[in-house]
Amino acid sequence: MDPEPFQALPEEWERALAIVAHPDDMEFGAAAAVARWTGQGKQVVYCMVTSGEAGIDGIEPDRSRVLREAEQVESARIVGVDVVQFLGLPDGILEYGVPLRRSITEVVRQHRPEIVITGNFRDTFGGRNLNQAGHIAVGKATLDAVRDAGNRWVFPEQLGDGLEPWGGVTEVWAAGSPDSGHGVDITDTFPAGVASLAAHKAYIDGLGWENFDPEEFLEGFARSTGTRMGVPMATGFEVFAMGWGG
Ligand SMILES: [Zn+2]
Repeated sequence: MDPEPFQALPEEWERALAIVAHPDDMEFGAAAAVARWTGQGKQVVYCMVTSGEAGIDGIEPDRSRVLREAEQVESARIVGVDVVQFLGLPDGILEYGVPLRRSITEVVRQHRPEIVITGNFRDTFGGRNLNQAGHIAVGKATLDAVRDAGNRWVFPEQLGDGLEPWGGVTEVWAAGSPDSGHGVDITDTFPAGVASLAAHKAYIDGLGWENFDPEEFLEGFARSTGTRMGVPMATGFEVFAMGWGG
C-alpha cells in the first residue's frame, strides 16, 4: 500500500521564525524550503539555541563556536535569511525545561512570527536512527514557548521595554519528522539548499565522513519525499496547530 500523500504547506503568511538547536540543523533538509519562501518575499529569521561548539571532535569549543557561527550566517544568507540570532546556550547539554522555554519565549516575543519552524523532535528519524537530546529538548520547548509567548503571566519579567505578549503563531512545523504529513515542493530551490549545507565546511570536514557529498545526501531524501507529493523534490514537515479550534 502506498503511504498517504503529503499535503502542501500553506503559503499565505509573511513572517516565520526557525528555532533549532545547532548550526546545520536547518541545512540538513529544511533550507531549500526556506529558499522557496524567501523567494516569494516572505521573511524568515533563524534562531540557533547553541552555536554547535561541541560538534567538531578535533576543534575545541571556543574556536569551533566562531567558525560555526560564521558558517551559519553564510549558509542562511544563501537561502535569503538575513537575521541569525545565537542564544549561546551550552551545546551538548541542553535540557528541556523552564529555563529553555524562557529563552525561546523571549525570541518568539521579539520576532512575532505567524509560523514557527523547528527540527524533528521525535525520538527517531524513522527506523532505527535515534534523534539527539538537544534536538528533542529544543523542539519540545519550542512548542511550549509558542504558547508561553502569548500568556502575559508567563515570564512577565520579559514584558515592557517594547516587548509584548505574542499569541499570533498559528502553527509550528517540524522539519524531517518521521510523522510528517505535509511537504514543500523544493524542486526549484534544491540547489540553494545544497549550497547552504555545503557552507558548513568546517563541520562537514570534522564529521570525517568519507566522501560526503551534500548534494547526493540531500537528493535521496528530497526525491523520496517528492514522490509523496507528486513532485520531483520535496521536504516533509509535521504540523502542530496552535491554539484551540480552527
Ligand atoms: Zn543538530
